[in-house]
Amino acid sequence: MFAQLRSPMSIRVEPTISTIYHRGMINSGLLAHLERFISTELASQLPSPPDDIHGTLVPCYDEERYCGPNSAVKDLYRLDLSFRIGSDIAGTFKGDLRYSPADQSFFPRYRHSRLVVITQARQEAQKLLSNAVHTLCRRICEEHITEATCPKCAAGLDIINSPALFDVSCPQRCFNYNFHRDPSSGEFQHGHLFFSQQV
Ligand SMILES: [Zn+2]
Repeated sequence: MFAQLRSPMSIRVEPTISTIYHRGMINSGLLAHLERFISTELASQLPSPPDDIHGTLVPCYDEERYCGPNSAVKDLYRLDLSFRIGSDIAGTFKGDLRYSPADQSFFPRYRHSRLVVITQARQEAQKLLSNAVHTLCRRICEEHITEATCPKCAAGLDIINSPALFDVSCPQRCFNYNFHRDPSSGEFQHGHLFFSQQV
């Protein structure tokens, strides 16, 4: 099924419908509520109003066995969007939403989470921060620095630089750089650089 919704900024969302429940639920009314959500919560994050938004809406649990009367997951949807300004992709969004039939509204799947459109400016800022964290962590490791501040928020970092573990984290939760080491050689084995929030 393909639903085409028209508004001044042209929003086109293609829903996937595979269960009886979702066949009843996903209709032009729901898509109009989705369009309102996209306009107010997502498109507003772009530097200027997009000319065109298109993407898909897929139930997170699209099997009949998840659609019982007491199901807590049947109204969860994954939304995947591209925002275009002129001929450029100005931003993308991928995230889970909850639809409330009672309120006739969409909400973030986790009520208090912040839904972020990845814009070019955010992507560039994220890359800069990532590079800064990598450079800083290399220095902390190689020069055995014990005190440093977060390149994003300037808080004093928590640093563990031990034979088996290298862990640098921001107490404000901007990032966590965590690697396990081979205690004999000091070589980094496995780990991650995790950013808790988009820039
Ligand atoms: Zn920080």
